[in-house]
Amino acid sequence: MEKVKIDELVKGAGRICITGHIRPDGDCTGSCLGLRRYLLDGDESRQVDVFLEPVPAIFQMLPGYDRTGMYSGGRYDVCFVLDVSDLQRLGENAACLENSDRVICIDHHVTNTGFAAEAFVKPDAAATCELLFEMMDEERISSETAKCLYLGIVHDTGVFKHSNTTRHTMEVAGALMEKGIAHDRLINDTFYAKTYLQNQLLGRALMESILFCDGRCIVSMISGRSMEFYKASHEDLEGIVDQLRVTVGVDCAIFMTEIEFRVYKVSLRSNEKVDVSRVASYFGGGGHVRAAGCTMSGTFYDVVNNLSAQIAGQLDP
Ligand code: 5GP
Ligand code: MN
Repeated sequence: MEKVKIDELVKGAGRICITGHIRPDGDCTGSCLGLRRYLLDGDESRQVDVFLEPVPAIFQMLPGYDRTGMYSGGRYDVCFVLDVSDLQRLGENAACLENSDRVICIDHHVTNTGFAAEAFVKPDAAATCELLFEMMDEERISSETAKCLYLGIVHDTGVFKHSNTTRHTMEVAGALMEKGIAHDRLINDTFYAKTYLQNQLLGRALMESILFCDGRCIVSMISGRSMEFYKASHEDLEGIVDQLRVTVGVDCAIFMTEIEFRVYKVSLRSNEKVDVSRVASYFGGGGHVRAAGCTMSGTFYDVVNNLSAQIAGQLDP
């Protein structure tokens, strides 16, 4: 991919908007807020608006988290779409693309559909934040921008432990550390710290998990009723699928959250064999080879049966 710089992309643009995917995660939030800070540091007189669903509480230590909202109208010279693989992932904020003269997608999903006129997609980048770093002028990255980008990399690599982590990822993280960020606190407070409720939900999901495909797959689910009972939100379920994945003998882990009656948000992870981006794409979702997701409807058993047919086809081709 040719090296294009953010500063070239925004030359002459006075009104810029930035948006990311529904249920923003660490990489999505970090990339949107990091780019906002970088653009404002370059020129305070620019208008830079960020359209995101409410930022999860753990990311509210990032600069500008309180300056985000949903798109409700207005024209822009440039619209950056970050960490988004397809238009459905934008939810209601998709409308800002139609009202922008230029739409630029920066992403690292192997399933990116090429929906944007200008796209910088690098599937071997561990995080959108890693790719953004390459497109920024390193000298001009402030410690606040660095905090955002570092957080995104930490979250999409599971603190540098997933197979997407490369030497280059570590070099980018090292350069960001040199900007003077409290990396240890950031990792603890946003990745490892769990509320009592989160631990309860994790415990419940593990207790109720089921092994199938001779112990090579594991699935668990939290129902809408349980979510209501615990007064939990999707943020409270972060990390559960990763705990399922580390079960010895398991290659593929599935965690399902009932978001509406018999409609599930499905999270998929794999260790070695199954390409979960293919499984998720088959059901209209997407993601990466080792981490992907989709939305499916039916009873719990319908969904597991449909998923297991696709997964088994890859485990025993
Ligand atoms: P998670 O399971 O953590 O929600 O998502 C894992 C990965 O799959 C992320 O990179 C996320 O962007 C992607 N992903 C999750 N759900 C969907 C979906 O419904 N559609 C698409 N295209 N990607 C998804
Ligand atoms: Mn990402």
